[in-house]
Amino acid sequence: MAESRQKLDIVAPFFNEAQSASAFAGLLERLEKAVSSRFGMAVHKILIDDGSRDDGAERFSLALSGSWEVVRLSRNFGKEVAVLAGLDHSRGDMVLIMDSDLQHSMDVSLQMIAELVEHPDIDVVYAQNDRREASWRRSQLAKLFYSLINSSQRFDIPENAGDFRVMRGTVARALTSLRDKRRFNKGLFAWAGFRQKAIPYSPENRAIGTSKWSRLNLIAFSLEGFTSFSVIPLRIISLSGMLAALAGVVYGAKVFFEVMFYGIAVPGYPSLMVAVVLLGGLNLTLLGLIGEYVWVTLSESKDRPVYIVRDVVRSDVSDGAAVASRG
Ligand code: UDP
Ligand code: MG
Repeated sequence: MAESRQKLDIVAPFFNEAQSASAFAGLLERLEKAVSSRFGMAVHKILIDDGSRDDGAERFSLALSGSWEVVRLSRNFGKEVAVLAGLDHSRGDMVLIMDSDLQHSMDVSLQMIAELVEHPDIDVVYAQNDRREASWRRSQLAKLFYSLINSSQRFDIPENAGDFRVMRGTVARALTSLRDKRRFNKGLFAWAGFRQKAIPYSPENRAIGTSKWSRLNLIAFSLEGFTSFSVIPLRIISLSGMLAALAGVVYGAKVFFEVMFYGIAVPGYPSLMVAVVLLGGLNLTLLGLIGEYVWVTLSESKDRPVYIVRDVVRSDVSDGAAVASRG
């Protein structure tokens, strides 16, 4: 009878979250109970230890109940890759992806699962952060980012939507077939398509530990998004290069006429400086940008796996003890 129950996999990556381990395990337990009683689904938890340097994996192994596995990666690969590792290990009819730092609540998770259960025509339900960005400048930057990246493709990357989502097994399997090494999940989720629905939510404040994102990380991540999903930056630079060249031609013609017909001597230094600095700057920007794309091409062309698993620790449901297996 247990075989016929629908299965929900919960995929949660963690990196140095030992402090949240017992609280998150508690949340998972409550979530599992609710999912089982409301939707009659069996829950399997897949936690990915993204190269933590603390004893998070041991703490999770002790705190988790029911059916679970902790996949330990060989080092820190970044959250995006950790999520892929989780999806690779999932076999469920539905997959919920959530953070393990308690910022993603049980209520929103249940709400998303309910949407998917009640609407067979929807394949993915994602949580869209409706919290106002603290600084106006940052929210404008985010707007600019999304309008640029969405301006040249057939699919739209929704604003403020992250990994917190529930999807059908078919979608999870489709996502695992995308083996990009430099991963930008928001883009991959959108690229994969399917019928997606957003529900608004506000993430909880981080009660324990600290965010793993620095401002520099964010900038690098946005660049990654661009270079793997958009040619727009290259086009903008090419266009401004052409405009600069055109301006140079017009200015040259003006100088030529002034010298030939009016005998005006051209004060050279300032205009030279402007041209040199402007074009030099444009050149360097363009080179850097091309370098970014070349780097992406290079890392994708190397035939390395996206991540390496150190080992997997599984619950042994029969006697409740955890067993470790290499693989
Ligand atoms: N995380 C991870 N690998 C990393 C960084 C973060 O697996 O290299 C996990 C982290 O433990 C957390 C989730 O990804 O469960 C979200 O990370 P974080 O809270 O730092 O990001 P934020 O919520 O600030 O966007
Ligand atoms: Mg967080």
